[in-house]
Amino acid sequence: MPELPEVETTRKGILPYINQQTVSEVIIRQPKLRWLVPDEIHDMHGEVIQSVTRRGKYILLETSKGTALIHLGMSGSLRVLDVGTEVEKHDHVDIIFENKKLIRLRDPRRFGAVLWTTKNPLKHKLIRSLGPEPLGEDFNADYLFQYSRGRKVSIKQFIMNGHVVVGVGNIYACESLFKAGISPKALAGKVSKKRYENLVEVIKKVLARAIEQGGTTLKDFVSATGDPGYFQQQLNVYGRAGEACLMCESTIKQIKQGQRSTFYCAKCQK
Ligand SMILES: [Zn+2]
Repeated sequence: MPELPEVETTRKGILPYINQQTVSEVIIRQPKLRWLVPDEIHDMHGEVIQSVTRRGKYILLETSKGTALIHLGMSGSLRVLDVGTEVEKHDHVDIIFENKKLIRLRDPRRFGAVLWTTKNPLKHKLIRSLGPEPLGEDFNADYLFQYSRGRKVSIKQFIMNGHVVVGVGNIYACESLFKAGISPKALAGKVSKKRYENLVEVIKKVLARAIEQGGTTLKDFVSATGDPGYFQQQLNVYGRAGEACLMCESTIKQIKQGQRSTFYCAKCQK
């Protein structure tokens, strides 16, 4: 699944090709994505893209008439291509520009979304209840500590909750908890302020590094320029069940938490 670093990498990748460019056409080959692509998306015709921003995992293309909200869902990718590039299976949406470039949404599983709003996109129902950006100042130890008091949910599920903070997906949650030395099973409401300070610092570092490197090791992720988004980010625990911990050589364990696999070292993480 494209995580926040992949989405941010995509945003940065498409930005130089489409920012301040005029939309010449929007082609919808398959409107049945996670939600139906609204006809109003065609209001983009003739509009200049005024900004290409991101909130959580939504990419926002702002024009004077409204803002397109794009989400890559489980399997989506957004690429910059030249006009005339052959359409392949699962290429559901093209936004074409007067500079003869287009951005193309490919989404085999169709959990992605292309929506349109004429209001402030940050007040859109899918966006307004999102937690703070992990790399922003609002995401800090005080905030997490206060928010978590009385919570009986595990720390892993807590930091993966998009209302708490956006963008800490499964891989990043596992890796951050390992680096912070916190057991994924610890109750969020019992974690000390000191440990939250450490955790926040680690989450910011892990995500910033992933963004720098262009995302994680996802088979079906392609960057905006079409290169595979694969890179060798060292994963300490994720996907390493049964292997030796790189710190202490204990065996990495795998459990399920809220339907998601958790990988951790019981010795390094308390
Ligand atoms: Zn260990």
